[in-house]
Order: sequence, then C-alpha cells, then structure tokens
Amino acid sequence: MSQSFHPPQRTLMGPGPSDVSPRVLSALGRPTIGHLDPLFIELMDDTKRLLQYAFKTSNELTIPLSAPGSAGMEAAFVNLVSPGDTVIVCQNGVFGGRMKENVERCGATAIMVQDRWGDPVDPQKVEEAFAANPEANLLAFVHSETSTGVRSDAKTLCGIAKAHDALVVVDTVTTLGGIDLRVDEWGADAVYSGTQKCLSCVPGLSPMTFSPAAVERIQARPTKVQSWFLDMQLVMGYWGGDSKRAYHHTAPVNALYALHEALLILEEEGLEASFARHQANHDDLVLGLETMGLEMAVAPEWRLPQLNAVCIPDGVNDGEVRGRLLTEFNLEIGAGLGALAGKQWRIGLMGHASNPVNVERCLTALKHVLGH
Ligand SMILES: *Cc1c(COP(=O)(O)O)cnc(C)c1O
Repeated sequence: MSQSFHPPQRTLMGPGPSDVSPRVLSALGRPTIGHLDPLFIELMDDTKRLLQYAFKTSNELTIPLSAPGSAGMEAAFVNLVSPGDTVIVCQNGVFGGRMKENVERCGATAIMVQDRWGDPVDPQKVEEAFAANPEANLLAFVHSETSTGVRSDAKTLCGIAKAHDALVVVDTVTTLGGIDLRVDEWGADAVYSGTQKCLSCVPGLSPMTFSPAAVERIQARPTKVQSWFLDMQLVMGYWGGDSKRAYHHTAPVNALYALHEALLILEEEGLEASFARHQANHDDLVLGLETMGLEMAVAPEWRLPQLNAVCIPDGVNDGEVRGRLLTEFNLEIGAGLGALAGKQWRIGLMGHASNPVNVERCLTALKHVLGH
C-alpha cells in the first residue's frame, strides 16, 4: 500500500529551491477557486502590480508564466527570435549554454561570447561581437549565474545592446528579490525569473516582463511563434490589461496564491532592505568560511550574496560531505554543476533562507563534518 508523503523539514541552502516561508505554504492551502472567478482576476492584477515592483518596471506585459524558470527562458527566445536571426549569447556558466540551445532551436545563429566559468561576462568581448556581427538584433546573458555564483554587469551589457539597436534578454532567475535589478532603468527587454530562488516560493512559476519594444517585435514577427503554449500573443489575451480574459490554459490557482503571498512579503520588507539582508548574511557566511580555512571561488566584486561558491579543499570527499550534511543536519547545500562538479560547493542564502540562524547552522555543520 502506498501512503501519504511527509517530507522531513530540511534547511535548503542550495541553488534552489530555497526554504519556503510558512506564510507562503499556508497561502498554498487556501480553497481553490475558478481561474476566471472575478476574485481570482483581482488576484492576478495585484500579482502583476507586485511583480512590476519587484522587477522595477512599468511594463504592461509583466506576468508569472505557468511553468518553471526554464520555460521563462524558452518563452523569451521563441517570442523574440525568428528563423535566420543572429543573436549574441554570453556564456560564463551552465545557463548561457542553454540559451545557445534555445537560439539554435529557433532557427537562428548564436554568436557565442565565452568567459571563464567563475568570471563575469566581459563587456569588451560583447562590443567586439557586435562590431563583427552588425546584423545581430538580440543580446542574451545571465545576470546571476547560479552555476558559478557570479554576477555580471547588467547595466553595462544592456547599454551596449541599446547602442547597437538590439533588444536584450536577461536571465534573472537567481537575481529577483536578492540583488539589485532595474529592468526599466537598464533597458532590459525580456526578463524572466523563477519563484523558488530569492522569492522563496514553491517552484514551478516563471515571473516575466517584456518591454514595449519587445512587444512590438513580437507583434511584427514574420512567422508564428513555434510554441503554442508560450506564444505571448495568446498569453497576453489571458493576462491582458482589460477585464476581458480569454481562456488560454487553467492558471495554477493555488501556486499563484503562494506567489502573491511571497511577493507581499517582499514588498512588506522592501526591496532595498531585502538586498541589504542578503548582503549582510553573505558577509557573515564568508567570514565564517574563511575563518575555517575555506576559500571562496569568486572574486569579491562579482560574488552573488545569495549563492556562495566555495572551493572544496584537496582530499575532501564532496559527495560524503554533502551526504552527511543532509542526513545528520537536514541541511542541503549544492554540488558543483558541469565542469565545476567535485570542485566547488554552492551555498545558497536565498530569500527566506537568508538569515543569521542558517548562516550559523551551516558553519557549525560544516565544521563538524570537516572535523575542524
Ligand atoms: C534555476 C535557474 C534556471 C532554471 O529555472 P527552473 O525553475 O529550474 O527551470 C534558469 N536560469 C538560472 C540562472 C537558474 O538559476
């Protein structure tokens, strides 16, 4: 006989999902109502407003896509890229490689700008790529590379694209709510995120925003978007500005209660206060790790406070340490991804999980397991 599933209470300090606050979990369990119920439509409108606050944008097309961050990435590309286009894609970790995949599956050419995993995107190389490929009409980069714990200079990169009349796709899955993000001021055109990182909501939704220039390009497409589900022209009819909502799909009603609550918590704290909290807990964690003799993998200027890449010391068994943290301390930290597997740990301090108790818990557990 199968039984109900009761997960243990873990402390989630990996690359996501992060700890979900009890307020968000309780919102998730409220009664399901119809997705075209007038009260639900009010909730959708208020969720849009809260997302505009979080993204620092007045973009009308600002919505949570009913699918995870990877679908947000795909939606950005399938809507903005047409067959035959040239797109400049920056790669300094795992997620830039997925952007390349998306561009090529749209029938476009990806011009890759490569940087070492662990370094930020080099704006000089992006300038050179535009000079060598003047037909490029889109730039894509990851603001917070979760695979390496590195932030890139989004403002400068967006500025370069604007100077070359290109639109910009920015991955902010790990950024939103954790570090400064200014969609309108920077001039980013298609920006997607996720709910399970610094918003500390349940996984499975992708907050997104499209600039008026992006909407114009979508409306002027020579061909239909190859994905029916992610076609923004259709999604706009469902999440549109007027009160007429055309049925497109059934919104994940309860997951949207949870997202609304998570965004309310963020607004109550205030964006700037949330950024300062992420930075302060990061500073304490780094101090503690370095005091134990561990080394950070990223230069201080480019470190993400919400995702801390730590070098695994020689002779330490990666899998055994993470296994013991999980079984003895109910504590999850992240493994290295791709080329960094076995070389680094990724310690998340995201959203609700970015607090002094977790910093202390992680340092104590690591000391114990490493025998310090
Ligand atoms: C987590 C993550 C994604 C993918 O999000 P999912 O919700 O797992 O699909 C994309 N980009 C970055 C930078 C991420 O950290």
